[in-house]
Amino acid sequence: KWTGLNDLRESYLKFFESKGHLRMASAPLVPQGDNSVLLINAGMTPLKKYFQGIEEPPRHRVTTCQKCIRTPDIDNVGKTARHGTYFEMLGNFSFGDYFKHEATAWAWEYLTKVLEIPEDRLWVTIYEEDDEAGDIWANEVGVPRDRIIKLGKADNFWEHGSGPCGPCSEIHFDRGEKYGPFESFEQAGECDRIIEIWNLVFTQFDNDGKGNYTQLATKNIDTGMGLERLACVMQDVDNLFEVDTIQNIMKKICSVAGVNYHDDPTTDVSIRVITDHIRSTTFMVGDGIRPSNEGRGYVLRRLLRRAARHGRMLGVNRPFLYEICDTVINENLTAYPELDEKREYIKKVIKTEEESFAKTVDKGMQILGEFIKELSADDTRKPILSGENLFKLHDTYGFPIDLTREILQEKNIGIDEERFFELMNEQKAKARSNQAFKGGWDEATANALSGLTTTFVGYKSLTADSKIL
Ligand code: ATP
Ligand code: MG
Ligand code: MG
Ligand code: MG
Repeated sequence: KWTGLNDLRESYLKFFESKGHLRMASAPLVPQGDNSVLLINAGMTPLKKYFQGIEEPPRHRVTTCQKCIRTPDIDNVGKTARHGTYFEMLGNFSFGDYFKHEATAWAWEYLTKVLEIPEDRLWVTIYEEDDEAGDIWANEVGVPRDRIIKLGKADNFWEHGSGPCGPCSEIHFDRGEKYGPFESFEQAGECDRIIEIWNLVFTQFDNDGKGNYTQLATKNIDTGMGLERLACVMQDVDNLFEVDTIQNIMKKICSVAGVNYHDDPTTDVSIRVITDHIRSTTFMVGDGIRPSNEGRGYVLRRLLRRAARHGRMLGVNRPFLYEICDTVINENLTAYPELDEKREYIKKVIKTEEESFAKTVDKGMQILGEFIKELSADDTRKPILSGENLFKLHDTYGFPIDLTREILQEKNIGIDEERFFELMNEQKAKARSNQAFKGGWDEATANALSGLTTTFVGYKSLTADSKIL
């Protein structure tokens, strides 16, 4: 009975309220007082202070629907059924309160009783050494043993350097024959027939950094379920972007671009990419991030320019993303009414960025085309675009390095990233020593304007960071 994206969000939060949880609002995408991540990437991230015992939580049971950005998933967007750079994560959390018994029982109750998902569509994975979880799923929750898959550390152990960590258990949904045959759990996962919907993390150990694990005195629960994924499953649609409210954004893109969804697989990827990127960028700008050449501002710029490029692939040669923005805002007013007040501001920021890229993109694409022609002619070695040329594309034509890398990857051409960063740092050093230099929308200025604290994130650390975002 619950299938709409907005209804699902509400039903989840209500369900966990009925289990004694305090409903808290989504934190902004910009981490507050936490420099370890560039952008919020999970429901637990803004709650870390409670998990670490740095601050006392308002209640020991909390439930949220958290806005998330995961740029490392960017290459999957539009290609897999289940990845967006933006998504909402539903979560229930226990700070030293309940543990495995309740977390598993409630997850199952919500999926099979509230949402009435047939039990035989669900699979459960556990960490191979977590017999306790296996026994609870089998004996208490009643999941057949052959539906409980044991996996190794890479898949089912949550750990981030030293500190609190623990095994996790994930719930997967089988979307059925139309997505492919079922040969094995792994194979069915590769074709998105089976998709992961919910991760339950059992934070029970402390890792001293040398691989010694001791049981924590207070054990925590951290769960995360993608709202769009859940909606995708409940609505029985092919992918995240065909979910009710998100589909309306796709429709708007198609009408602006004069293309039809389902006419051509390549066009469809571009439509989904734009749909995703306009969602992430609308929320990022709404949360005070502005396009720039570093840190979060760079992530935003990269997403906007990538979306603009896909727009051009659909034949749209003028700024258009700012128009799609209206649909994103309208479709999100139920959960994020504050977007309405920021509407004109968000549109202006996006339009300005589109206009500035539009000035140079055609010339940049032409120059890049010439580089590609030259490099492809050289068959003596694997072609590599030089750091100097990467820098020129970046500096003169506004091509974020990731965009250039991506376009070249399609042509099997590598890039000299190291030299590029050297040149970037040289330029930065020059700018810093030049008193007359008054930067435009750099991260520090943007953050000062929006009242956020800032730490300098260099290009090197951005590249390293973006892998763990
Ligand atoms: P996957 O293996 O499919 O990439 P994950 O294991 O990286 O997912 P988790 O870190 O466990 O995901 O996050 C918890 C939940 O958040 C996932 O079970 C999924 O429902 C949702 N989720 C994760 N990444 C994305 C994404 N890029 N887009 C939409 N939902 C996501
Ligand atoms: Mg992932
Ligand atoms: Mg996974
Ligand atoms: Mg997972």
